[in-house]
Amino acid sequence: MDVNRTPVQPVTPQIAPVPPFPPPPTSVFCTIVPPHVLDKLAQSEDPAHHGPARLTLEHDALHRARRSDTAVRGITGPAPETASDKPHRTIYDAGHQQVVPGTKVHSESDPPAKDASVNRAQAGLGATFELYLKVYGRHSIDGKGLPLDATVHYGEKYDNAFWDGRRMVFGDGDNTIFLDFTIPVDVIGHELTHGVTQYTANLEYSGQSGALNESVSDVFGSLIKQYALGQSVGQADWLIGEGLLAPQVTGKALRSMKAPGTAYDDKTLGKDPQPATMKGYVETASDNGGVHVNSGIPNHAFYLAATALGGHAWERAGQIWYDVLTGGHLAKNAQFADFAALTVTAARARYGTGEEAEALLKAWSTVGVTAK
Ligand SMILES: [Zn+2]
Repeated sequence: MDVNRTPVQPVTPQIAPVPPFPPPPTSVFCTIVPPHVLDKLAQSEDPAHHGPARLTLEHDALHRARRSDTAVRGITGPAPETASDKPHRTIYDAGHQQVVPGTKVHSESDPPAKDASVNRAQAGLGATFELYLKVYGRHSIDGKGLPLDATVHYGEKYDNAFWDGRRMVFGDGDNTIFLDFTIPVDVIGHELTHGVTQYTANLEYSGQSGALNESVSDVFGSLIKQYALGQSVGQADWLIGEGLLAPQVTGKALRSMKAPGTAYDDKTLGKDPQPATMKGYVETASDNGGVHVNSGIPNHAFYLAATALGGHAWERAGQIWYDVLTGGHLAKNAQFADFAALTVTAARARYGTGEEAEALLKAWSTVGVTAK
């Protein structure tokens, strides 16, 4: 018998209240269009541009403030004992009101809807479910088969899309700068990946850990698109939000992983501010410390590593990123160097000391991050 053992406390004869579900993980209010882009639009003299942008900014600021006050409730439904290999998707229509979930308009077993936004949301949720299940063996965003809900036609000319902690919400865009937010599948994948991060590493949404949170969403958002289209690293566009900008905007997308800082350069929208390397790291108090700006650096590291390895980016490069995100060693407040070191460790653990680890060391070094 271990005499040093702490004496066992007498058991109090009472039944502790058992919560109906595990406590909900906290989530961030993350929008695909960052505040700095909407700020620029809000300064435009053209009411067609500043009107929707100002309303969107007001809405998003309100929701961000609320989110920091409270943990997200409602995402805690009991997981099925055996998660299904099929997604369970439900699409709602907000009817241009700022309400969620809105009216239920589509269930999993329904035939395609007449509304293209509904069908695109359904397809995007499905593409996200497929990549995580088929490639990484993950059942939905919580790993336990969480049903996937989405609300379309949110608000009037609402210039954004977001994951609110339990569902995807899409605006229609103002139609002069932004089109319907259900169009780019990588935007859907980006937002749902915030859910995956919320359930796994739960990276703090500020500074470098926030930029890593954003970058992880861009990486898997792009991989979801690449996997759905069967693209090799050379065929992929490495853009986030391609198809979202209206034809009159001078730009290709919201962000570029291949060439951060080059996604758009437009008189109304301004210029893509993302750096590709630590030389351009932006110290700022806005946007939670530039989380949508400095994410260009780890984004570019992923692009460099994936293209050096060749083939399909979701296979080795994506697997390594997934291992880091879900492996339990990534701290909530991880910095770029911490994440870089974990990718090298994960590469060696899975593939040995071969070209994968070498490609990662080179990629991180090129963007100016030394793997600790
Ligand atoms: Zn995001």
